[in-house]
Amino acid sequence: MTRVFNFSAGPGTLPEEVLLRASDEMLDWHGSGQSVMEMSHRGKDYISIAETAEADLRTLLEVPEGYHVLFLQGGASLQFEMIPMNLIQGRAVADYINTGEWAKKAINAAKGLADVNVAASAEDRSFTYVPSQSEWRLSDNAAYLHYTANETIGGVEFGGIPDVSDVPVVSDMSSNLLSRPLDLSRLGLIYAGAQKNIGPAGLALVIIREDLIGIGEPAPPAMLDYATHAKARSMYNTPPTFAVYIAGLVFQWLLENGGLAATEERNIAKAKLLYDFIDSSDFYVNPVDKADRSRMNIPFRLADPALEADFLAGAATNNMVELKGHRSVGGMRASLYNAMPIEGVQTLVDYMAEFAATKG
Ligand SMILES: *Cc1c(COP(=O)(O)O)cnc(C)c1O
Repeated sequence: MTRVFNFSAGPGTLPEEVLLRASDEMLDWHGSGQSVMEMSHRGKDYISIAETAEADLRTLLEVPEGYHVLFLQGGASLQFEMIPMNLIQGRAVADYINTGEWAKKAINAAKGLADVNVAASAEDRSFTYVPSQSEWRLSDNAAYLHYTANETIGGVEFGGIPDVSDVPVVSDMSSNLLSRPLDLSRLGLIYAGAQKNIGPAGLALVIIREDLIGIGEPAPPAMLDYATHAKARSMYNTPPTFAVYIAGLVFQWLLENGGLAATEERNIAKAKLLYDFIDSSDFYVNPVDKADRSRMNIPFRLADPALEADFLAGAATNNMVELKGHRSVGGMRASLYNAMPIEGVQTLVDYMAEFAATKG
């Protein structure tokens, strides 16, 4: 068996230790005689899996008192709609920062449900930077401020949390949650589809401050109401049980490997390895402002776009897959999620150097 280095933006690579453990437990979870997939979600075994997953996530992220952790479905995309439905009273204003493709999706989804004010946009420079906060045109009375912490497609990441005092800050952290420590006390709501940096597709995480639950007017339908899921502890209907179980194993793996501070150090080292190489080369280029570059998703172009197919084919021969950039930006993209080992990044950099030397 050969496992590849998978640079996909999502679903992304998972830790090999987690996959091996799931494989060991596949037919018989802890002597239960069943796979987790086959268990009743109301039985004590699954309840213990879900409770442990939530407790470990709370430990990892140091979730403050008064925040609910919800395990939902519908991906991050459903959150684009649930957020305005749940946080808006009537047709109040919501502020959005437009940093790229995912921010645009969030904005468009909210438009039917709120008066959207795009307080800043990086579209003028093809989404290669985060607009500086001093230039944001925030509303006086916004129900919330939404930003996309990491633009998975453009490779642009906020270095910190926006500094606003009186408005709940909402963040799409689909592709960088758990990649670094997070001061949740400065955020009202964060959300993430699991399939980038957390676990299998089919699970979405929402962490929401208590006072933001149950305030939407009109009240959303039950399945779309955070209050429903908070009250039922994410068991209102059948949860994505196997995805929660795998995410729980990923949380344990992160805790065993030093938690989020150590994870951040590894991610800084991996990203630096690739960016330093790109910046040292005349053959590859990353268009993003240095201060705003993503540690998770690194787009780059080749000097000659006609060589892209060759580049990808050679990478595949060297066990590296999913390096093709998103169709909206072209070029290449390497996603370096938590589970990508530094050996994978080194293999990529070695290959890129050799490719440039022979074709450049
Ligand atoms: C992938 C992604 C989404 C959409 O996630 P789905 O789970 O497919 O709905 C939203 N935002 C960001 C930043 C993403 O990377």
